[in-house]
Amino acid sequence: MQVPLFSSPGSLSPVARFGKRLLYSRPWGRLSGRICQRAGEEMSGFLADFPQGITCIDTGYLRPGFAASYLLVEAGEAVFIDTGPSHAVPLLLTALARKGLAPEAVRAVIVTHVHLDHAGGAGALLHHLPNARLLVHPRGLSHLLDPTRLQAGAEAVYGVARFQEILGGIHPADPDRTQATADQESFSWQGRCLTILHTPGHALHHQCIWDGASGGLFSGDAFGIAYPVFDRGAERLLFPATTPVQFDPEASHRTLDRLAALAPSGIFLTHFGRIPFETRWTGQLHTLLDQWVDLAHRHRGETDPAGLTEALQHSLWAQSVRKSLTVTEAVGREWLDMDCALNAQGLRAWLRRRS
Ligand SMILES: [Zn+2]
Repeated sequence: MQVPLFSSPGSLSPVARFGKRLLYSRPWGRLSGRICQRAGEEMSGFLADFPQGITCIDTGYLRPGFAASYLLVEAGEAVFIDTGPSHAVPLLLTALARKGLAPEAVRAVIVTHVHLDHAGGAGALLHHLPNARLLVHPRGLSHLLDPTRLQAGAEAVYGVARFQEILGGIHPADPDRTQATADQESFSWQGRCLTILHTPGHALHHQCIWDGASGGLFSGDAFGIAYPVFDRGAERLLFPATTPVQFDPEASHRTLDRLAALAPSGIFLTHFGRIPFETRWTGQLHTLLDQWVDLAHRHRGETDPAGLTEALQHSLWAQSVRKSLTVTEAVGREWLDMDCALNAQGLRAWLRRRS
């Protein structure tokens, strides 16, 4: 099904008004100065440009090169895919201005799923974009309209102070401009077509976005994580995101096969940047998923998640050694320890659900 993103902008309800509450406090500036682009990419500050009007925006979440948002521009109008947390909203607006576009030129904000490093800033961003609609998987819709549970969950994980520091508040999205997507639904703006694919596995509320113009796939967390800091030539340290609380390995395998069948020209990862699509990546993700499920079974029954976390760390270290990635232990720990801990939690949550 293909529908225009926006057939009658005049029919929009007024943008909700917010008080003068300060939503964002962490400037990019203090994080700048570190190289995070991939070899051969043109990086200007926190932006990297790709053909067909695609720009990767480093949201600055946690550290440079960690979490991206994407801006797609066609004939003077734009779409955002993923937003980063609320702290990232000023950066996204700056990116838009650097492309010579006004906030009114944005037609849609699409989130791959409602985890806060992807969609925490969606409601706040929408507030600044009077002609945009927010498109979300139906299972994520209620969470963006009323983020109380999202916020409580994040505060439980990070603590209230740390939550505010790294993610900022979560603004409810304007219900009149937020809509649920359907699988294989297409949206067009200025003749450019984006197709939504519902892609469970990482989370039940996950969707990927297929861009017909570029042949690119915006994969959120469904096609794994590959931080540029680990790149060496054509090699990547690519691994699955098995984070809590809805991770499901069988659905992840099916989603990988579905995405691979598209044979995209490139995959735009939220974590982080574009990687060229190669069938070996799909094979590698399938293998690691099987390996990690096996490790989860082996560590089943342990009260402390540390054993499984350590096993996942070893698994990634083995990958980096096999690929001759030149990574020091300090860099590896800085970048991977949190992922390994979260991935262990997700695997354990999946085991508990099925017992
Ligand atoms: Zn996620």
